Amino acid sequence: MIFSLFFIHFLDYRLKLVHSYTLMKLNNKTSKRLFKKAQNYLVGGVNSPVRSFNAVQGSPLFISKAKGPYIYDEDGNKFIDYIGSWGPLILGHSDKDVVSAIKKTASKGTSYGAPCELEIEVAKLVVKSVPSIEKVRMTNSGTEATMSAIRLARAYTGNDYIVKFEGCYHGHPDYLLVKAGSGATTFGNPSSPGVPKSFTDKTLLAKYGDINSVEKLFKKYPDNIAGIIIEPVCGNMGVVVPEKKFLADLKRITKKHKSLLIFDEVMTGFRLDMGGVQKRFGVIPDITCLGKIIGGGLPVGAYGASKKIMKMVSPEGPMYQAGTLSGNPLAMSAGFATLKKLNSKTYKYLEDTTAELVDGIEDIISKSRIDANINQIGSMFTIFFTKNEVVNYKSALKCDTKKYGAFFKNLLENGVMFPPSQFEAVFVSTSHTKKEVNKTLDAVYKSFKDLN
Ligand SMILES: *Cc1c(COP(=O)(O)O)cnc(C)c1O
Repeated sequence: MIFSLFFIHFLDYRLKLVHSYTLMKLNNKTSKRLFKKAQNYLVGGVNSPVRSFNAVQGSPLFISKAKGPYIYDEDGNKFIDYIGSWGPLILGHSDKDVVSAIKKTASKGTSYGAPCELEIEVAKLVVKSVPSIEKVRMTNSGTEATMSAIRLARAYTGNDYIVKFEGCYHGHPDYLLVKAGSGATTFGNPSSPGVPKSFTDKTLLAKYGDINSVEKLFKKYPDNIAGIIIEPVCGNMGVVVPEKKFLADLKRITKKHKSLLIFDEVMTGFRLDMGGVQKRFGVIPDITCLGKIIGGGLPVGAYGASKKIMKMVSPEGPMYQAGTLSGNPLAMSAGFATLKKLNSKTYKYLEDTTAELVDGIEDIISKSRIDANINQIGSMFTIFFTKNEVVNYKSALKCDTKKYGAFFKNLLENGVMFPPSQFEAVFVSTSHTKKEVNKTLDAVYKSFKDLN
C-alpha cells in the first residue's frame, strides 16, 4: 500500500481540488511548519506518497511518538490510531515485549551479514503457521517479496505471462504497476512513467471476483502463464472479501495449466489468522508473500513455498535473489517478539473488538442520511462512501472520495486517525479496548453528523 493504484488514478482529479482543508479545532501549526521544511528536502515532503494526505486534500501530521492505540503529533494532539503503520502493528504501538527484544538485540549488534539463530526462529514459526510454506526467504519489504515471487513463478514454470487483478496492489515492481480498469484492453498499460511498455506487456489483467475474466486469459494463453498473483482478501482498494469459491477456482485453473497461484499475504498474513487467508479459507496457494506483521514494525518481507519450488532459489538453485540486510537481526527480533504473542485468543479478541466497532458504525450510518457501507473481515475494514456494495475495483471507484476526505478530517478533529484515503483498510490492534471503541464510536457519530 503506501501508494495504491488509485493514487495515480485520482491524481488528475485531486489536483483540481482547490485548497487543502483547514482544521478548525486542531492546532497543527508545528506539523504545517515541518511539512513546509520537509518539502525542501524530501519529494512531496514524505517518503511514501499516501502519507502526504493528498488523497484527503490535507496536509500531513508529523508524529512525535506512539504508544498502544495512541499516536501523538508534534503539536501535542493525541489520536486513537487505526492506521497501525499500515498493518504491521497488530499489537499496537511500541509493545513492551517488541521494544525490549529490539533493544536486547541492538546491544549485540545491528547487522552481521552472516546468518544468526533469530532468522531460524522466525522462519520456523512462519513454516509452522502458514500452510503453503515449507521454506522461506526473508527480504526487506513486501515489494521485494512480490517481485521475487513473480521471478520464482517464471523460473519454475519457464513461462513469462502473469495475471494480476484490477485494484490489487503488490508494491511497486515495474510489471505490477499496471493501470487497473483500462477496460477493453487485456494487456497491461504501465500506470507510471518510467515503466517501459515492454515491462508490462506480459502482465494480464483480470477482474477481482470474476472467474470468467481469468478463464478467458487462460483460454488465450493456455501454456504461457507463469502464475496468478492476488491479494486473497484485498485491502488495497479498501477491504474487499472474495467468495471462497473464487479462490478455490483460481487454484483449480492454475493447477490445470501447470501455472502457479501466488497469494500476496503481505497485509493479511498473521492479520486474519496465524495462517493467513489460506488457512482461514482453506485454499492453499503455491507461493505466499509476507511482510508487515512478520517484521513487527521494522522493514521486512518474505516469500515462501514448498521445498520443491523453493529449490529454484539461489544458493540451492539458479534463480538469483539476495539482500544485504535480509533477515536483519533487529527486524527478526521485532518480528519474532510479535509473532510469539499471537494465538487463537488474539484473533478472537480482535474479531470481537472489531465487530463491536463495525456494528456501532453501521448503526450510525443507518440512522444518517449518508450513503455508506462497510466491508469487514477480522480486524480490518473499510467504510465506503457509496450506496452500492463494493466487490471490485469498478465498484470501489464509485465512492465519493471527497466525502471520505471530509469524514477523515472530522474524525481527526474528534481525536481519531483513520487512513488518509478512501481506498485503504482500517486496522484494529490488540491494544484497542472497549474504551477506545466507545470513544471512536462517539467520534464517528459526531463526524457523520457534521457531514449532513
Ligand atoms: C503493503 C503491501 C505490499 C508492499 O509492501 P512494502 O513493504 O510496502 O513494499 C505488497 N502487497 C500488499 C498486499 C501490501 O499490502
